[in-house]
Amino acid sequence: MSEQSVSTTQFELGDYVRFWAAGEPAKGEFHCSDCGYGVTVYRELPACPMCASISWEQVPWSPFTRVASSELL
Ligand SMILES: [Zn+2]
Repeated sequence: MSEQSVSTTQFELGDYVRFWAAGEPAKGEFHCSDCGYGVTVYRELPACPMCASISWEQVPWSPFTRVASSELL
């Protein structure tokens, strides 16, 4: 018998990626689904300033993502 120690909750949260479109009201960190550019959104999603894509993926809040939002070349 195999023990099912892997949580199904982990699968549901980790494997399901909801795509967001520019103009949608949103709050949090998002990455462009095309070029990966990261933005922090407080009201609604813009078009990507880098590649003009309007498709975004939300980044779950974690202590490790805060640094990336301030990276500028
Ligand atoms: Zn982009």
